[in-house]
Amino acid sequence: MPGSKSVVSIFDDLKMIRPPSPYWPESANVYVFKDGDGISFFDVGCGSITSVDRLFSALKNLKWESRPVKKIILSHAHPDHMGAMEILLSEITPESIILHEIDLPYALDPEKLALSFDIPLCKENWTGVKSRDSDVKKGPEFDLIAYFRALGCSMCSAKPNRTVVEGDNIQLGDYHFQVFHTPGHAPGHISLYDRRKRLLLAGDILGEMVAWYAPSSGGAEGYLGSLKKIDDLDINLILPSHGDVITDAKKAIQATKEKILERDRVIIKALQSGPKTFEELNRLLFSSPSVQFFPGTPILESHLQKLKNEGKIKQDMISSRMAYFI
Ligand SMILES: [Zn+2]
Ligand SMILES: [Zn+2]
Repeated sequence: MPGSKSVVSIFDDLKMIRPPSPYWPESANVYVFKDGDGISFFDVGCGSITSVDRLFSALKNLKWESRPVKKIILSHAHPDHMGAMEILLSEITPESIILHEIDLPYALDPEKLALSFDIPLCKENWTGVKSRDSDVKKGPEFDLIAYFRALGCSMCSAKPNRTVVEGDNIQLGDYHFQVFHTPGHAPGHISLYDRRKRLLLAGDILGEMVAWYAPSSGGAEGYLGSLKKIDDLDINLILPSHGDVITDAKKAIQATKEKILERDRVIIKALQSGPKTFEELNRLLFSSPSVQFFPGTPILESHLQKLKNEGKIKQDMISSRMAYFI
């Protein structure tokens, strides 16, 4: 079957449409369900012609292209998950578009994403180091929406007609999903769990890499809380938004948790040898100036807030510089 490499058959009635790479700025995986006489989606991918073409050619290969679209569920309002909505809606008319209520403002007005990404904090902490490794200059003039566009994963606005919260139910064909609110990476991020099939659509919180996190999206504490919630479930199969199907749920959850906690340990270890500034800690955690700007700044700030809340570190002016110490 031509193009079959980009379609992974999970079950007869559930397929994963996979981008060429699991890494940003590629699309997230798109999951398509047979839903009665129609189909439903969990995420739709990047706002680019290439990404939407891949989706339509996959539907054609599956012979699902003439089925009406019933539901589009968006795991969260990020461009690699919902950027394709504008192009898609010029071709199809879904019965409903579903998103967690907390991510609604970002879907309606993507300019607001700069706030949930904590971009103002990045600009505030920018130290003037010129980045050589980014397509878009990062610094005080940084424009998040232009950055998405420059990388070929444009964001658009979309108007969901149903919002959900923790505990709500969503039925897609033979699948009975319960909504889990899993913040940390996005304030209104959701994961869907089918208890009968022991199946979890994880979104970005589990998968090929640990997603970035920001205080305004739930931070490290929110992310760890989301993982704990998921860890309590009986899961046979995790379908992540980036990367391959995960069969050992416990192992994947533990590995993600450890990678987050490791950053706490790096910070504490550094402070054991004396006070450090935000910039010094940022350079310790992230080597590239581009990454230090974003997502380094919000990730570090998430950990500093967590460690302060736990009473493990303090913050004060030392020799006219703001510093962190034990
Ligand atoms: Zn995301
Ligand atoms: Zn993503």
